[in-house]
Amino acid sequence: MEKLYIEFKDWQNFLRGKLKEKRIYAPIKSENDIPFYEILNEKNLTDIVYDKARPVEPFKIFLFPFKEKVVPEIENFQEFVVLGVNSCDLKGIEILDKVFKEGEYKDPNYEKRKANILIISLDCKEPYPTCFCSLVGVNPYPSKDFDLNLSKIGNGFIVEIGSEEGLKFLDNDSRFYKANDTQIKILEEERERTIEKVKKINENFKIKEPENLKGMFHKEYWQKIEDIKNCVSCGSCTFNCPTCVCFLLEDISKNEIFKKVKIWDSCQFPGYARMASGATPRPSLFERYANRLLCKYWYMKENFKIFGCTGCGRCINGCIGKIDKRKVIDEVLVEKMKV
Ligand code: SF4
Ligand code: SF4
Repeated sequence: MEKLYIEFKDWQNFLRGKLKEKRIYAPIKSENDIPFYEILNEKNLTDIVYDKARPVEPFKIFLFPFKEKVVPEIENFQEFVVLGVNSCDLKGIEILDKVFKEGEYKDPNYEKRKANILIISLDCKEPYPTCFCSLVGVNPYPSKDFDLNLSKIGNGFIVEIGSEEGLKFLDNDSRFYKANDTQIKILEEERERTIEKVKKINENFKIKEPENLKGMFHKEYWQKIEDIKNCVSCGSCTFNCPTCVCFLLEDISKNEIFKKVKIWDSCQFPGYARMASGATPRPSLFERYANRLLCKYWYMKENFKIFGCTGCGRCINGCIGKIDKRKVIDEVLVEKMKV
């Protein structure tokens, strides 16, 4: 993969020029220093966060919005660029593809949206205390599925070109030049250092093989885990997750115009999968909580051959009940060993 280099100041001017042609979303520094995606403009261009980990929102919001009309089909999607997609969110696209693009029933909106997005991904530099990508086989830097990838090195970026579209975006601009061996060596060393940081963050989590959750659907295991009792079924863990794909279809009819609308759903809601008779397959909090973890580490692994979790840690950050899923996995696997 070709690697170029550009000075930070030149990159900012390059991006400023692109604002005239394209709508660009990028992670922008907020008051509490956590990056949120915003549409880029002249003012916030200098507040782009390049040296942390993933933004608050998962990348799925661009491919699978919270609420979207599916019938009649949306015909035209505007092209745009998303800058700052991290490795954990790129991995999440693999799950979204399996569900919306490669399955028996395809979502036409999904494919059109995806074809219109140019992805500029970013190496993570400072993982959060909740990040655990390396525990689920994901590196903190992207190696595929991007158009361009940026890694901040010294006073500039190494730019990796991942697709023809990425190359076209650079417009043969002479401010990008071939990265030299020293810069590439620094890139490799920094990537290793970030992996070590993620390992260090997670050194106290004893059991690092969540696939061992296979078969653990009996609620007796889960009822023993005190932290799960703090769950308030808010659904934040599912809405924040780059791989959670459950949705409801709602029929809306107004003034003789009919629409079918797709809306995010959450397996943590008590009404999830409830039938017309009122019967529900998972009436208790413990069963619902267990279902989410089993879906991530067992069902998706079985169905798609990859974990349904990329280790982004958003479900830990966003949990109102302050539940650390890594601790729950540790504890429930200890329960399994006792049997
Ligand atoms: S389950 Fe949690 S850590 Fe895993 S991808 Fe979803 S939000 Fe991220
Ligand atoms: S975010 Fe926490 S409290 Fe909310 S549903 Fe998920 S586990 Fe429960």
